[in-house]
Amino acid sequence: MSALPQTANAVPSVQLLINGEWVESSATEFRDVVNPATQEVLARVPLATASEVAAAVDAAHRAFATWRHTPIGARLRIMLRYQALIREHSKRIAAILTAEQGKTLADAEGDIFRGLEVVEHACSIGTLQQGGFAENVAATVDTYTLQQPIGVCAGITPFNFPAMIPLWMFPMAIVCGNTFVLKPSEQDPLSTMELVKLAVEAGVPPGVLNLVHGAKDVVDALCTHPDIKAVSFVGSTAVGTHVYNLAGAHGKRVQSMMGAKNHAVVLPDAHKEQTLNALVGAGFGAAGQRCMATSVVVLVGAAREWVPDLIAKAKTLKVGAGAEAGTDVGPVVSVAAKERILGLIASGEKEGATLALDGRNVEVPGYAQGNFIGPTVFTDVTTDMSVYTNEIFGPVLVVIGVETLDEAIALVNRNPFGNGTGVFTQSGAAARKFQSEIDVGQVGINIPIPVPVPYFSFTGSRGSKLGDLGPYGKQVVQFYTQTKTVTARWFDDATVNDGVNTTISLK
Ligand code: NAD
Repeated sequence: MSALPQTANAVPSVQLLINGEWVESSATEFRDVVNPATQEVLARVPLATASEVAAAVDAAHRAFATWRHTPIGARLRIMLRYQALIREHSKRIAAILTAEQGKTLADAEGDIFRGLEVVEHACSIGTLQQGGFAENVAATVDTYTLQQPIGVCAGITPFNFPAMIPLWMFPMAIVCGNTFVLKPSEQDPLSTMELVKLAVEAGVPPGVLNLVHGAKDVVDALCTHPDIKAVSFVGSTAVGTHVYNLAGAHGKRVQSMMGAKNHAVVLPDAHKEQTLNALVGAGFGAAGQRCMATSVVVLVGAAREWVPDLIAKAKTLKVGAGAEAGTDVGPVVSVAAKERILGLIASGEKEGATLALDGRNVEVPGYAQGNFIGPTVFTDVTTDMSVYTNEIFGPVLVVIGVETLDEAIALVNRNPFGNGTGVFTQSGAAARKFQSEIDVGQVGINIPIPVPVPYFSFTGSRGSKLGDLGPYGKQVVQFYTQTKTVTARWFDDATVNDGVNTTISLK
């Protein structure tokens, strides 16, 4: 059955996946999925009912009983098929992703590819999910550990990476032997749906992967359901903190990957052209709607003179619909997001920052209704201004000048977020000092968007992350498993009776 049946008014309604069946929700509330370049309504997404959420968790709970015992080879062979299917369907899904999210087709393919890499890594589960063994911890006694799946896990994802972030979650969870309930962003669930359909096609059995749609009520239901053992969340700091506290209070393991204000620190000895390319690409790519977007440029010493060149380069970017060839900057995701960003730009002006490049009145021929904002740059920014204290999540760069690297490091470490940062320099010593002293999860050295590849883990400091373990890499195997320690002694026929031991010591 199709995951997107046509309804009477010809706008497809997005289905739920419960126990291997695509089902029409009996919800009474829906949200429109809207193309941000045109305002065309692409689909209606239901806010699933409490009983549908309960049915999805129940299906996952029942499937866990058998899935947890499925041999490693069987689990990883599903992932092998899955990665091949994603590769095969990547361009088709990228077009859906661009239509519902707005980013360029090339960037949509990148969104899928960075998720695909996690699926490829899931194929190594045979060597990732291993315990330890110590022989002879006492006479004839051995101790070993098992990394066992924990049960039903839930994933709650944001709008900005509808392919990569769901793929951070369910492939690693289920390849470890868990079952899963995914709640994608209600703003752009269509490309996530396509990826879930491919997972089913790859052989993920009924109940092992379930999908429900919704917003706060559905998220809260997942965070409080007694059968859910772990919750992976990616999104804003406010919601992530709520999820962490609510699910934690209900006894669940939680990882919350949250908001950001990423600083790029530019030393005057940096390679100028490459640095400006990096700042403009990471500041305005995906219309600034990346948790790893560069949002603050900290120019150190003589690099402060680079502002005119930065602005000149920003002006070369083409704003347009993501589906149009040659577009560099697509629309922001919704009318509400655009209004919020315009409000922050207005407050920047009001608070005394210099609007050195104003992208507010950009015109995109043929797309008069699109949520476009052109590259925007503020200079003379101080750390008390709202353009600095808020995550803008739009194509807006704020520039701050400082005298020294020490000042720049102190500035970054004072900011409440700690998601990503970069230093641009030709000095190994300066870069080494920066990587050592900076309190931020992901550090780039002459790399603007240092999202780690899946053999490492995505992380974060302070206001950007709650929970100890990151969403992929080796850390996520720890997150999606629990360690059981076994201490064993086997008697052979020649074992002598060594008497009763009333102490805690192993003898
Ligand atoms: P969001 O927090 O609004 O939404 C994330 C998820 O939470 C969605 O599935 C949404 O339905 C749900 N949700 C929204 N409001 C809720 C509420 N009141 N109670 C419970 N659930 C709720 O985030 P977004 O706008 O979709 O995504 C952008 C944010 O995500 C940015 O802050 C960005 O920095 C962050 N992000 C972080 C990372 C990371 O790895 N640190 C990666 C991508 C995005």
